[in-house]
Amino acid sequence: MRRIIAATNNPGKIVEIRQILNDLPFEILSLKDAGINIKVEEDGDSFEENALKKALEIHKFTGQSVLADDSGLEVAALNGQPGVYSARFAGENATDEENNAKLLKMMELVPFEKRQAVFRCVIVLVRHDGMILRATGACCGKIGFTPAGKGGFGYDPLFIVDGLDKTFAELTPEEKNVISHRGIALKNLKNLLVKQGYK
Ligand code: IMP
Repeated sequence: MRRIIAATNNPGKIVEIRQILNDLPFEILSLKDAGINIKVEEDGDSFEENALKKALEIHKFTGQSVLADDSGLEVAALNGQPGVYSARFAGENATDEENNAKLLKMMELVPFEKRQAVFRCVIVLVRHDGMILRATGACCGKIGFTPAGKGGFGYDPLFIVDGLDKTFAELTPEEKNVISHRGIALKNLKNLLVKQGYK
């Protein structure tokens, strides 16, 4: 069985990656499982640049297959902000609550019909032989006027999913994974791997 190092220590992400890739012949390790203690600076101008940088640096260090993702929220009325700055929208060590409060403040005067937003995710897999696979996923919705729901993380309580009338934070993790930007990107990556003969 081939190993893939997922360039994260986020337990939620590891579980999701294992669930979606579970019928393929890969063992998924977190950075911690693989004994790696490297912090890659996410200073790119796009999700793709950040994901590629993370995957390549850890691949260079280990020589193994490495999967990395980067994601964030793009709000139409804010010209795509917070984008790659999603995690640090309200400052370098901002909490989710601070980021959400800043977003709500900036959107204060924007009417509901102009509150479109999209969560995007880019996943890059650098294979052991250096070949690079790339997959993307997106999920469209609107930014609510007040937080709703207790689940998830980040902007979940503000993101009302198109067609569902519920925020990401009001869904179970299983419900969210089916439609989320990361879930879709992982499924697209899985399809690429299957096409390459991994079954
Ligand atoms: P990362 O790709 O895990 O580094 O995510 C960057 C930031 O984007 C997070 O800190 C969140 O603020 C935001 N984000 C990404 N995915 C989600 C999600 O599924 N729900 C809520 N916020 C998210």
